[in-house]
Amino acid sequence: MQFRHDHLNEFKRHSQRGRCLHFDSGSRCNKIISAHSIQKSGQLALIVEDGHVYRLSADASTLKKSNGTPQLRRIGVNRASTFLGFCKNHDNALFDQIDNYPLNSNKEQVALYAYRCICREYFVKENAVNVIDGMFHHVELSSEQREFLRLIRIGHSRGFAGLQHHKKIYDATLQAKDYDSFEFTYFISKSPCSLQLSGLLYPDFDFLGERLQDLGDWSSPLDLITFFTAPLQEGWAFGFAWHTSSNRTCIPFVQSLATLVSDNGCLEDALLRLSLSCCENHAIRISWWDSLAAEHQIGALKRMHLMTHPTLTVPNRYLVSGCEKMANWTFEHLYTTLPSTAA
Ligand SMILES: [Zn+2]
Repeated sequence: MQFRHDHLNEFKRHSQRGRCLHFDSGSRCNKIISAHSIQKSGQLALIVEDGHVYRLSADASTLKKSNGTPQLRRIGVNRASTFLGFCKNHDNALFDQIDNYPLNSNKEQVALYAYRCICREYFVKENAVNVIDGMFHHVELSSEQREFLRLIRIGHSRGFAGLQHHKKIYDATLQAKDYDSFEFTYFISKSPCSLQLSGLLYPDFDFLGERLQDLGDWSSPLDLITFFTAPLQEGWAFGFAWHTSSNRTCIPFVQSLATLVSDNGCLEDALLRLSLSCCENHAIRISWWDSLAAEHQIGALKRMHLMTHPTLTVPNRYLVSGCEKMANWTFEHLYTTLPSTAA
């Protein structure tokens, strides 16, 4: 118990420590703001009800009450998806194109969405590594707890080392305004949206269950894809974006989604599966979730449990099936930089 309590307090302390992750950050970054990783006016506004949304909660007090399964918690929209990862000046200047304009298949906007995904994850992962290091040094641990923490630390450190590698690439690309070095595919919908997110993934298995890269082999950096929702002039989009240095994995990953759909798979189900299995930075419409059948809610929470659990193994076919008949939105078109992808 003491273990979890300390962990929670350490985590809070670190996650409240702001710093600017902008590629040009420096001594002038003195006013760190609570920035939304999911845009508030265009995106969260689409799903907010009575000033609130649901967010995944997997902190110690939630897990204690729910026997280890993460839960959705109602939170005020001003607190949804925020992180202390940019100073005010850099946040306003850098993200102007996506915070104040709808997405319109412009590569600069896509690059900015991808950058915000990676910076948010970088912020969270760096905090996690620092928290664990702090616990090793400052908290009395049993040998069992020490071993458990050591395993978790290995996972977080590898993930963070990968993010450092990719953030350097993203930093240099954005600094040079070389937006053509980003590839993207996004799907557009005019139906009501009930889920907004911003996340990233080292793709391990594709939507057909084929292995793309071995997450146990960190001898060279793993390829990385970002995904996000975005407001459009009319409707909203679910997008994937990646730097061309990750083409080897990301192109077949997105193509497997096209193959799944052409083989009568459901695109909406597949993207919801990905959203619940590979992302913990969601905002969810309260009335949509509350209207789901109990077995759907339980299935979704199980997926989120698998994702947040440090030692459970994810099955190879986790993106092939599951989460059917939950999404009540439809995608009508896609935009892609890939010449041969058609859904
Ligand atoms: Zn700054």
